[in-house]
Amino acid sequence: MKIYNIEAAPTALPGFDPELVEYGMKVLADKGVVFKIGTAIKECTPEGVLIAGDEFIKAGTVVWTGGIRGNHMLDEAGFETLRGRVKVDPYLRSPQFDNVYIVGDCSIVMNPEGRPYPPTAQIATQQGECCAHNLVAAIRGNQQKEFKFINRGTVASLGRGQGIGVVGERKFRGYVASVVKKLIDIRYLYIIGGIPLVLRKGRF
Ligand SMILES: Cc1cc2nc3c(=O)[nH]c(=O)nc-3n(C[C@H](O)[C@H](O)[C@H](O)COP(=O)(O)OP(=O)(O)OC[C@H]3O[C@@H](n4cnc5c(N)ncnc54)[C@H](O)[C@@H]3O)c2cc1C
Repeated sequence: MKIYNIEAAPTALPGFDPELVEYGMKVLADKGVVFKIGTAIKECTPEGVLIAGDEFIKAGTVVWTGGIRGNHMLDEAGFETLRGRVKVDPYLRSPQFDNVYIVGDCSIVMNPEGRPYPPTAQIATQQGECCAHNLVAAIRGNQQKEFKFINRGTVASLGRGQGIGVVGERKFRGYVASVVKKLIDIRYLYIIGGIPLVLRKGRF
């Protein structure tokens, strides 16, 4: 079996630390992954994938990871959306309806450079906390709190026992990064469902 990673951007994992990207690509290349970077996909057919330069890669399985969209229900409900996602106000409300809060993958929050933050679990959980505060504040007639994303870092798994990550100023790679990833997963399980959920779903 041959695995191709076809990426239109000039690098894999855009936005990640370049040194860690290089490490991650090497780990995957050593496992046999073939990278086609800076190469847009033109068409997917039942036989494979047509890429820039009119090269055709025959494939029985194609996994599309080229971006997400929000839920179509938002369009159908009359919200103004960009690919099913709503650009929310500083308090996570719909600009059209100030009694509707939108969080997670269905929302768009801009970073200080004016570009949307990538939709991740990290931002969704922080929005959840801010939204809960603002819902209570709205009911009690108190001041709404602005949502401020705190980037606690990013970790990516590269398969069993391998990963890359940045937490604060520190970079992790290899086995240490995979342990950090597992610890983050376990922390989320603990926040959502306490020890019982960790014991049921947590894996090391
Ligand atoms: C393969 C994959 C890997 C990822 N890895 C990471 C990662 O390592 N780190 C990270 O930070 N983020 C990661 N993400 C992104 C992260 O999962 C999402 O950003 C996050 O889950 C968004 O939370 P959410 O609550 O908005 O949506 P979800 O977690 O998708 O929750 C939405 C829920 O709504 C339900 N739903 C949808 N429509 C309806 C309906 N009509 N009625 C009732 N229920 C409905 C869905 O079933 C789902 O349970 C990953 C995403 C994918 C797909």
